[in-house]
Amino acid sequence: MSTRDYVEKDYYAALGVPKTASADEIKKAYRMLARKHHPDANNNDPAAEERFKEVSEAYDVLSDDAKRQEYDEMRTYGASFGGGFSPGGTGFAPPGGAQNINLGDLFGEGGLGDMFGGMFGQQGGGRQRRTKGADLSASVSLDFRDAVHGVTTSLQIRAEAACPTCHGSGAKPGTAPHTCAVCGGSGQTIRQQGGFGFAETCRACHGRGAVVDDPCPTCHGVGATMQTRTISTRIPAGVKNGQTLRLAGKGAVGAAGGPAGDLLVKVTVTPHPVFGRKGDNLTVTLPVTFAEAALGASVLVPTLEGEPVTLKIPAGTPTGRTFRIRGRGIPRKSGKPGDLLATVEVAVPQRVDGKAREALEEYRDATANEPVRDALIEQAAKG
Ligand SMILES: [Zn+2]
Ligand SMILES: [Zn+2]
Repeated sequence: MSTRDYVEKDYYAALGVPKTASADEIKKAYRMLARKHHPDANNNDPAAEERFKEVSEAYDVLSDDAKRQEYDEMRTYGASFGGGFSPGGTGFAPPGGAQNINLGDLFGEGGLGDMFGGMFGQQGGGRQRRTKGADLSASVSLDFRDAVHGVTTSLQIRAEAACPTCHGSGAKPGTAPHTCAVCGGSGQTIRQQGGFGFAETCRACHGRGAVVDDPCPTCHGVGATMQTRTISTRIPAGVKNGQTLRLAGKGAVGAAGGPAGDLLVKVTVTPHPVFGRKGDNLTVTLPVTFAEAALGASVLVPTLEGEPVTLKIPAGTPTGRTFRIRGRGIPRKSGKPGDLLATVEVAVPQRVDGKAREALEEYRDATANEPVRDALIEQAAKG
């Protein structure tokens, strides 16, 4: 099972419960449906088996708080955000494999029937081949603060979409495509080889299952035209500069009712004049005077949100030392926010006048014999 299947499946609908359903309601709905569709109770009816699988899979995810939360987020933001949604990512097991019921044991392993079902059954009844739409790309530039908090923004996408004149059929309005005589509308022909049949795309209709006699004047029979559309989307909190978000189902439309592709949104975050970013931590360079660094001091540190906080700098703090201020970084999707990392930089005044100058000159005289460079010069001579 792919991540995409997972995003497209509506587990709430499968159990017939609202998104806000409690754990109890989910359990109740599952028990009721599982009893109803259990294969033993339905003479091994394949439709019931399919429904039973669906219900079990939905329950597997929605009954687990962590899985349910990830599933909800994934359906909102698409599969790529957070990086934890791919099978084998942050411990998220795709459903199905984790099922306690071995369906093969219950229903018997499929023999030849299943094999042929797999080879030819997919297109059965369908007139055209359902093809997934292409993935599209867009880019968005975000303010530093918006990237931290998440923002709803609109994106302009130029892409092929179903032709407004023929609604994608490719046929002139008032006419309809006719069923392909070669493949009978299935879009596939069967080639016999060595006693086996192999399905291949019908050459007469290119797999569409239908042939257009009078092409649509707008799209010339293609069924699609280039269109610009604007979509509004929520960018989740904490996106990083250069990150690509995948918005499931917001890409190009699929052929013949196939699912839409995804939209890949490349995010650029404009830098903040004061704060930098390291993962979920914010960074700031904190100027202090030499006296503050040497004697120790309580100094104010700006934060991205709200009031500055007070930081105690111990006596003898060297320039370049970094202090961690907990919880003042980037908010995380779940749990604690990141930290603010303040790096001390001793500020050297451009001019020193009056009393300060007198004091400094006095200090210079008092420390004239301090051997700050002796070790350096000694080492250089040795090396
Ligand atoms: Zn058209
Ligand atoms: Zn055909």
